[in-house]
Amino acid sequence: MDILLPTSTAGSLPKPSWLAEPEKIWSPWALEGEQLIEAKQDALRLSLQEQRHAGIDIVSDGEQTRQHFVTTFIEHLDGVDFEQRKTVKIRNRYDASVPSVVGAVSRQRPVFVEDAKFLRQQTDQPIKWALPGPMTMIDTLYDGHYKSREKLAWEFAKILNQEAKELEAAGVDIIQFDEPAFNVFFDDVNDWGIATLERAIEGLKCETAVHICYGYGIEANNNWKKTLGSEWRQYEKAFPKLQQSKIDIVSLECQNSRVPMDLIELIRGKKVMIGAIDVATNNIETPEAVADTLRKALQFVDADKLYPATNCGMAPLSRQVARGKLAALSAGAKIVRQELAG
Ligand SMILES: [Zn+2]
Repeated sequence: MDILLPTSTAGSLPKPSWLAEPEKIWSPWALEGEQLIEAKQDALRLSLQEQRHAGIDIVSDGEQTRQHFVTTFIEHLDGVDFEQRKTVKIRNRYDASVPSVVGAVSRQRPVFVEDAKFLRQQTDQPIKWALPGPMTMIDTLYDGHYKSREKLAWEFAKILNQEAKELEAAGVDIIQFDEPAFNVFFDDVNDWGIATLERAIEGLKCETAVHICYGYGIEANNNWKKTLGSEWRQYEKAFPKLQQSKIDIVSLECQNSRVPMDLIELIRGKKVMIGAIDVATNNIETPEAVADTLRKALQFVDADKLYPATNCGMAPLSRQVARGKLAALSAGAKIVRQELAG
């Protein structure tokens, strides 16, 4: 990155109401067939334009072409039956009706590669593409076939690696794996979670990131956060092993979270995407509040390794609020950039 403190988002941005019902996750599409394909591309262009207008440095597709960050990827795989649904607890937190693994999982064709090529055609800026991580994928499914979380995670890691290699070839600069499950299943993270993630990035030359957060600003997550006490030390469990891993960038939730900033010392040497925008509130941060979070992070991250970002995806927010938050992120990063230069 030639610029100091390059800004980006965790991934998703709100969809226009003509594409899908707004302010909702798993929101159903408003169109179908050819119209839907065209509308998704239009929304991607719009989302890119809004990021550019706000001054975001590393841009994404705003996840305009997917219904959900995990489910949409899985939908394209063989071995998963979307008709056979079971209710499971996601991340030990809330019940969701999820599809079932009914046979060996495989990827017959690319999932997001055409979308990534389309995004690449629209911009010369660095682009980041998000994929679900293996552990978060298995947590969003009922497995009636492998009957082993670990085994299924290794299978997904192989599939993710195939997809990631094609995204890299399509010109993606940073491939990010979303692993909110890393904040919940600490033993699994250390036993095989990070190892499966490294399998997913095997042989990649582009940069790789892992996004670990406390989730979208939905009620179940907000209620869970209330039970976590005055200090959130979940990151402490995965960080030592993550520091040793081959992942280049770690994306974290830091704004309004009760994560003690000094935990970041445990991943010293990694690039860190610091969440400086809270996605669980409609209040738009002031640039000064963003700057303040970045300054605190700078005690534990070298300036050339600090990437200001959002805490998590903004899909459930209104477009107006998301726009305001993107602008605040940019303005806050600018303040600190000037301080570092001065
Ligand atoms: Zn997140």
